[in-house]
This record gives sequence, structure tokens and C-alpha cells, in this order.
Amino acid sequence: MKPLLEIKGLEKHFPIKSGFFKKTTGYVKAVDGIDLTVYPGETLGIVGESGCGKSTTGRTILRLLEPTAGEVWFDGKDLAKLSNEEMRRMRKDVQMIFQDPYASLNPRMTIRQILLESLEVHGIGTAEERKRTVEEIIEVVGLRKEHLDRHPHDFSGGQRQRIGIARALVLKPKLVIADEPVSALDVSIQSQILNLLKDLKKEFNLTLVFISHDLSVVKHLCDRVAVMYLGRVVEIADKKTLFENPSHPYTRALLSAVPVAKPKQKRERVILQGDLPSPANPPSGCTFHPRCPHVTDLCKTQSPRLQEIGGGQAVSCHLVQMGG
Ligand code: SF4
Repeated sequence: MKPLLEIKGLEKHFPIKSGFFKKTTGYVKAVDGIDLTVYPGETLGIVGESGCGKSTTGRTILRLLEPTAGEVWFDGKDLAKLSNEEMRRMRKDVQMIFQDPYASLNPRMTIRQILLESLEVHGIGTAEERKRTVEEIIEVVGLRKEHLDRHPHDFSGGQRQRIGIARALVLKPKLVIADEPVSALDVSIQSQILNLLKDLKKEFNLTLVFISHDLSVVKHLCDRVAVMYLGRVVEIADKKTLFENPSHPYTRALLSAVPVAKPKQKRERVILQGDLPSPANPPSGCTFHPRCPHVTDLCKTQSPRLQEIGGGQAVSCHLVQMGG
């Protein structure tokens, strides 16, 4: 099957400026050479600790941040090379759901105006068709028509996220990037929004990139999962393989902190030493080496490459690649 989204060598480096003349003295390598493929109809999860570059990856794919290098092939076009006008037109097909929908909803507009605006900007349908589409989508996300004439501040956090989802879906995009869409919500509301996304995924045959720091949330929704550490993908596999047979020591540590349903399957808890190093000054060799319980001399000097180890699972670790 042809991928819908193919990312090759994507980088996003932020300059560090200092001194009176604001000279560039270094770079924060938030995204440092990522390759990812997303197939039509699948949900790819991107997980990692806060600061690992997962949100920057999402924003760079959509050109909300300009990539430093790399290619983002979507529907036969390299998004990284499109002009601003071409990208504006392309946004109809690639939409984003944000962590904090309130910040992205104009407080002075009613929900009807917000949803209509998206359709009008892209010249979709007649006035009558747009009205109908808006009234349909609000019900699809579990709200009612009368909600359309209220303002964002009239809604709870969970309802606002439903509006954020409606705004992303009203354009019938081919790809949706959801950046931590439930992490600002109460746990009870989180599961409602996740179930809604799961239903919508089926109903609209959505292709979704789902960014989260929470592996249990990712498990609920995703088909494949990419684990990021310091701006790079360290492991990628289908969900079952990743959860049952995690191979990278970092993935194992992350997973060991996730509660399991059956206590008999309890995994040995791996406590990660130290904090996530600064992406402005990443460790040499394998960037995970200062925290890795299996570190060797080779790890300190040579950066491992992401390599397929079978069954679609790829891992970036010397130990795993040597069959350890
Ligand atoms: Fe640990 Fe070495 Fe593998 Fe890095 S390459 S994860 S330091 S064993």
C-alpha cells in the first residue's frame, strides 16, 4: 500500500542566541533526523517524555514550524517545499487537534462562526451546504445544534475538545495530527474523548498521527507506535509487538511504568537514571547512554542507526542489533 505520509530525514533545529549582538552560539536539535511512514487509515502514535521533540515533529510536518531539513511527502507533494499559498490550500487535507483547544478558538466567535469560517476559507460548498455540514459535524462529535450559537467560554474542557475535533473534521481532511489531545483533561473525560476519536476513526476512515507522553493512551487508539528520545525515533513497531516485546531499553523503561490489567503479567519496573539531557547539548554516541542500564563503550562513541529487526519492528540500539 502507498503511504499517505512519508517523512524523510526531518530536522528542526532552534538557534540559541546569546550576547548583546544575539549571535547564534548553538542549536537545540528538537527534531534530529526522523524517518516515518503513515499508511491510509492507520493511526500512528508518537510517544516519549516531554521535551523529546514529539510535538515539534507534529508542528513541523504541518509547517506551523519551518523544517530545518528533510522531506515531508504527503499525497505526492513535499510539504516542506510548498510555497505559503500552496501550503494554505493543502491545510484543508491535513488538520491538527491541539492540546488546549481554548487557546486556538477565537473567544469572540460563536462555534457556528468558527466552523463556518474553516469551510469559507477553503471555499467549500454553498452557504446552504456549509450550514448543513456544520450542523451535522456538531452532532457527530456528541454536541447539539443549540451549542452552535454559544461561545468557547460557555463550554467545559471536554466539550471544547469536542469542538476542536469538529473544527478539524469539518473539512474532511485526509490526515489529522492530534497533539496531546487529552492530556489537559480530567481522567474521566479523557476516556470519553479517546472513545470519540476511536469511533470517528472508524466512521471517517481517518488517518491519524497521535502524539502523547502517555503509553496507555496510545495503546487505546494506535495501530503502530514510534518511540522518540531526544529528537530521534529509537523504536517503531506495531502496537502488539511494542507492548509485548519492546526491544529498546528506553521503550522497556517507559513500558515498565504503565499499569497492566492482569497483575500476573506485571513487568519488572525499570527506573530511569537521571533526567532527559538537554537537546542543546546531547550526549555523544547513543544519546540514551547516560541513562541506559546496558551501556557499553561502543554506545558512548557511536550513534546506533534505526534498523529493522523483523516483523516491521525497527530499533536504534547496538545491543539489540548485535542480538543481545
Ligand atoms: Fe543502551 Fe547502548 Fe542500546 Fe544505547 S545503544 S540503548 S546505550 S545498549
